[in-house]
This record gives sequence, structure tokens and C-alpha cells, in this order.
Amino acid sequence: MTLEIVQVAPGVLVVTLPEAAMNAVLVVDGGEVLVVDVGATPSRGAELRALAERHGRVVAVVVTHPHWDHVFGLGAFADVPSHAHPATIVDLRETGIAQRDALIAFATDPVPAWLGTFVPPLPTHPVAAPTTVRVGGLDVVLDPVGHAHTVGDLALHVPALGVSMLGDLVEVGDPPQLHDADLAGWVAALDRLAPALQPIVLPGHGAATTPAFVAAQRDLLAAGLAHLRGAGPAPEGLDLTQLPG
Ligand SMILES: [Zn+2]
Repeated sequence: MTLEIVQVAPGVLVVTLPEAAMNAVLVVDGGEVLVVDVGATPSRGAELRALAERHGRVVAVVVTHPHWDHVFGLGAFADVPSHAHPATIVDLRETGIAQRDALIAFATDPVPAWLGTFVPPLPTHPVAAPTTVRVGGLDVVLDPVGHAHTVGDLALHVPALGVSMLGDLVEVGDPPQLHDADLAGWVAALDRLAPALQPIVLPGHGAATTPAFVAAQRDLLAAGLAHLRGAGPAPEGLDLTQLPG
């Protein structure tokens, strides 16, 4: 299958994968590549790695949060440092098998043989505080957020290229997904991240967007939070019944 690849800035390629239309991102400079999110299957991860290696040596991987569509392809990068929020590593250890079993339980197509015994690989490098990773001549800032969309969201910024990557902290084309969310934490996270956001914001799903869109999604989440606290109507475009009990 041909992957959809869009260059959003010089050296920043968004690769939209078939599974859940998840955006992987390649940051390329000076013969080195950083891969952000690795797809939903081992073979998709391998395909992504082969694509990345057309642009240079893969020096690091970042996983933005512990959801299967972003992380189950990590085995293809076992020899590369893989960075994630510490809570993402803990969460994958605790829920990875359950996420796999949910995929099997809800599959509409025949389940591939590998999935039945799959043990999700874990990221190797916990990022507990803002950290800069060097890719060629570029600084990429990893900013761990805390419980928002998930227990372990992590944002990235490439200030030299004017690009931020938010994983599923921002969702384009679909409502924000709340199944593992902390709504108050999410609003606080987007407030804290706002001053650092670059002009081009890449979501975990959907097309590249802007800080203004992120601000609007922050306001939507805040309206949902206010409703839960008894102030104001339930906002359109947010399924509050998804929230964990
Ligand atoms: Zn997610």
C-alpha cells in the first residue's frame, strides 16, 4: 500500500498510516531522522522505518502516548532509543495486552496471526522533564505533559522549523477522544503549552493545523469540564460519556 506523505516544512514529513489514519512524523536533518509515533503493527513499523531510512539514519523515536495505533509498531525500532513520558511506559506495561485483546475482540476483519500472541514493546527512555534531542543540526524539544488525553502525553516542538507535534492532545476531523482522559488536566496542559506552540501544529490524526485551532479545542474541552461541574450546557462535538468513571 502506498502511504500518504505530506511535507509540512523542510525536513518534516507527515506519514498518515491506514490504521486509524494515525499520523507518524519524520523529522529529517543532516542525514539523521527522528520518528514520532510508529504505527499500529510490527509490519507497519518496519515499513515506516524503511521509509525513514531513505532520508537518513534513524537516531531516535518518540511515542506521544500509550495508545496502540501510535505504539504497537515499536518493535521495528528496537535498536534505537525510544522516548516517552514515564507514565506511558508504565501504562503500556499495564494495559498493552488489554489493548491488544480489545483489538481482537472488536475486529471486523479476520485477526492476523501475530496479534494473538503480541506483547507490545515498551519505549526505552522515560522523559520526565523537558528534554532536547539533536537530529542533525536541529534541536527537537520533548515536553512531557502528564494526564490529559492519556496518563502520559508528550508534546514536541521544532522551533527552527516552526512545527509542534501534539499527538492526540489535538484532534482534527474527529472529536477529541476522552476514553482515558483527565479533562481538567487536558485543559491545563493546553494552557501551559500554548506559549510554546509553533505556527504549524501536527495532530495525531487529521491534517496539519494552527495554534488557533488548538485554542478552540481547548475551549471545547473547558466547556465540557464546566458542564460536568454544573456550569453551562453540554458542548456540541464532545462525547462526555467516553470519560473514564
Ligand atoms: Zn490516542
